[in-house]
Amino acid sequence: MARLGVEAITSSHHGDPGPERYDVVVIGAGAAGLMCAIEAGKRGRRVLVLEHADKAGKKILISGGGRCNFTNLYATPDSYQSQNKPFCVSALTRYAPQEFIVLVERHRIAYHEKKLGQLFCNGSANQIVRMLLDEAEAAGVTVRLRCKVTSIRRADGFLIDTDLGPVAAGSLTVATGGLSIPQMGATGFAYAVARKFGLSVAPTSPGLVPLTSSGQPLEFCKRLAGVSISCTASCEGASFTENLLFTHRGISGPAILQVSSCRQEGEQVHIDLLPGFDLLTHLKEQQDARPKADLQTILSTLLPRRFAEVMCETSLPNLGMAQLSIKDISAVVHRLKDWTILLDGTEGYRKAEVTVGGVDTNGLSSKTMGAVGVPGLFFIGEAVDVTGPLGGYNFQWAWASGYCAGQYV
Ligand SMILES: Cc1cc2nc3c(=O)[nH]c(=O)nc-3n(C[C@H](O)[C@H](O)[C@H](O)COP(=O)(O)OP(=O)(O)OC[C@H]3O[C@@H](n4cnc5c(N)ncnc54)[C@H](O)[C@@H]3O)c2cc1C
Repeated sequence: MARLGVEAITSSHHGDPGPERYDVVVIGAGAAGLMCAIEAGKRGRRVLVLEHADKAGKKILISGGGRCNFTNLYATPDSYQSQNKPFCVSALTRYAPQEFIVLVERHRIAYHEKKLGQLFCNGSANQIVRMLLDEAEAAGVTVRLRCKVTSIRRADGFLIDTDLGPVAAGSLTVATGGLSIPQMGATGFAYAVARKFGLSVAPTSPGLVPLTSSGQPLEFCKRLAGVSISCTASCEGASFTENLLFTHRGISGPAILQVSSCRQEGEQVHIDLLPGFDLLTHLKEQQDARPKADLQTILSTLLPRRFAEVMCETSLPNLGMAQLSIKDISAVVHRLKDWTILLDGTEGYRKAEVTVGGVDTNGLSSKTMGAVGVPGLFFIGEAVDVTGPLGGYNFQWAWASGYCAGQYV
């Protein structure tokens, strides 16, 4: 966890030119930070963005498999989770997906809807980073890379000490993201700043993350690694119909990533492997139509062959259809329509697409993203306790919260 000093500033020595001065300092040149900086720059504010990595927008570059799923046509506030759900309504309503689409189109970036309202670049995610940097430049924003913040002090505004020298700012925006992908430099910096200034942090956990198994169930997954099945995965009253993917460590795929964000530790995930399909009627019909065929053959027409094979070998009665009793048929239906597997962990922040939880929104203004009681301090993006599902929702929150803060910093 980052260590920060917030001791009171003392006057500078005589003759000392003092720190560089900006109206606004934004820490973090990611999606939210760049958007905030652009908007503030457009208002004529003198803006400096401090970024500790060697490049801006690194997560944008790796997002959406390199094509950046930059928004979702259906990203409305009710899609997001937070301890304080109404918080995100204001920003997401003021900066809707259409606003970002207009920006993308103005920069002539070709895009397409992949599925379920998910908009991706036709080309590379680099186009989105280029667009943001061009916008930042046009708005007169300075982006300083490879710059490490060592302490933040309250002054007439804020004094930010960095390894490249001190900077004074009237307002400070923390846009350093969450804990996901620490190997790319993600830290708990935003939470440390929030705590130092008296704000609370809602408990954090890895979200949109593959789930892991152990023992026999893991052996089952390993045998099926690479197999993908369309399913409905449910947990905590939330259901997602998407693909499931077996891995060498457990299960993943969009349906599982979605469910992982809602799931409490140790909670069972219920999986319908044939959503919307009346398996009971089908199997009864097959008993008459193909009495000599074995169950595995019949299931192979409905599910991936390898899955039917391993399932029949390990946990289904692989008899001829005519030999199956009604009790057997019911057991097969139950197994496949409400399949569960031991899931005793996640792949953690190393593989999580987002961090659930974060800076407690009860301490922030939903209009400005400013900290209540700390004038001039703002938190935006993934650092805040607002988390979207898979499919462009998290970038939309980054753009929207960055846009709103940019009007007030
Ligand atoms: C593999 C992967 C794929 C993803 N794909 C998608 C997708 O397609 N669509 C989608 O909507 N979401 C996607 N996400 C989630 C999305 O990337 C994040 O929700 C989004 O980037 C959050 O934006 P942010 O600006 O809040 O944080 P970030 O984008 O994480 O930016 C934070 C910035 O702050 C910098 N920083 C951190 N600490 C410090 C510090 N102490 N000092 C200075 N700088 C610091 C970081 O280097 C970084 O540049 C994906 C995430 C991952 C990991």
